[in-house]
Amino acid sequence: MVRALLTGGALAPKTAVMTERFKGSFTQQEPLPEAAIEAALAVLKHGRLHRYNTVPGELSETALLEQEFAALTGAKYALAVASGGYALATALRAVGVRPGDPVLTNAFTLASVPGSIASVGAVPVFVGVSDALTIDLDDLAAKAGQARVLMLSHMRGHICDMDRLMRICDDAGLTVIEDCAHTMGGGWNGVASGRHGAVACYSTQTYKHVNSGEGGFLITDDAETAARAIMLSGSYMLYERHLAAPDPAVFERVKYVTPNISGRMDNLRAAILRPQLRDLPAQVARWNERYRVLEDGLRGTPGLTVVERSGAEEFVGSSFQFLLAGWSEAAVREVVTRCDARGVELKWFGTPEPHGFTSRYDSWRYAPEQSLPESDRVLRGLLDLRVPLTFSPEDCALIARIIRDEVGAVWQRGG
Ligand SMILES: *Cc1c(COP(=O)(O)O)cnc(C)c1O
Repeated sequence: MVRALLTGGALAPKTAVMTERFKGSFTQQEPLPEAAIEAALAVLKHGRLHRYNTVPGELSETALLEQEFAALTGAKYALAVASGGYALATALRAVGVRPGDPVLTNAFTLASVPGSIASVGAVPVFVGVSDALTIDLDDLAAKAGQARVLMLSHMRGHICDMDRLMRICDDAGLTVIEDCAHTMGGGWNGVASGRHGAVACYSTQTYKHVNSGEGGFLITDDAETAARAIMLSGSYMLYERHLAAPDPAVFERVKYVTPNISGRMDNLRAAILRPQLRDLPAQVARWNERYRVLEDGLRGTPGLTVVERSGAEEFVGSSFQFLLAGWSEAAVREVVTRCDARGVELKWFGTPEPHGFTSRYDSWRYAPEQSLPESDRVLRGLLDLRVPLTFSPEDCALIARIIRDEVGAVWQRGG
């Protein structure tokens, strides 16, 4: 402080000397654990990368990964696939969604979710987002009669009251497919995220909770759904090599009528995922430590609303959201620009044009046009930042100080 005053003086504006900048990268993940690198090398050395390429007596890395993922989530059946989006489309096919069928889904989610619905020729029907950034359960109750399936996206890790959601869906006869891309390792009221609905899908893409570049999982307790998903994924007739699959008798009922739409996981990616699954609980704790630092640093900032989390929600703080509720577009833009100038990359879900991973439901124009004014209001003030584990808790404290400063500066001039 004294130094800043002394060196500032007439030559430089005082603020320029005292202004903190963040120098980290919002897209840099941690290196893979040593155990994953060793496992990958072993696969590369024997060369059997295809999941069904095994020597007698060998269990493939992919089959073992599925067995371990089923154990981790408590599901009866698990299938590893090529991407999270592929898992979502496969789930829709496996529960019997046909071209032209309406499918309910979140208005606030990533493009791969409505995209998976469109990929099977079905029609996304959007359900609004609440101020808690979860699905609007009143809107869901109002629309529940319009479809047979809900694809529920736990977008950015915000988990709604799952007990109430399941009551609404059970009463309306809605089959629930959960998109757990941001809730792997999370839960609701002691139940793992993904264990409420009929099927759940996960992504193992680089920006999610475990990193295989690309990849995904599908879990279910329903034997026929699992058998169909396995056939769909491109198992040819080798389904008996799966370790988290239903009895061969179940496949007899589906194998002639289920098309092969290849999207398998391979042994190289499975090998690097297995050690990461073992580390997941420790990683979740590290994410949440960082999340709490951001939350503490931002709570009480005038004009800024922290999204309060329910005590029943066991979330994974791999990203952070806050609201500038009621702010003008110009003022929100200014906050984004000013934070960016100090090294803090905020994504704005209210922007009219899709940018990077943020897009609004009205830019998915392959879906029928729908109007959700309450969701528009929430999204207009919604800002988002990634929290990669390469950030230290001190980094997160600095990021919070920068956001607090810049939100404060714009707010003082009228929001
Ligand atoms: C990443 C993501 C997906 C899809 O995962 P991919 O592996 O990229 O296909 C689905 N839903 C949400 C909310 C996601 O963030």
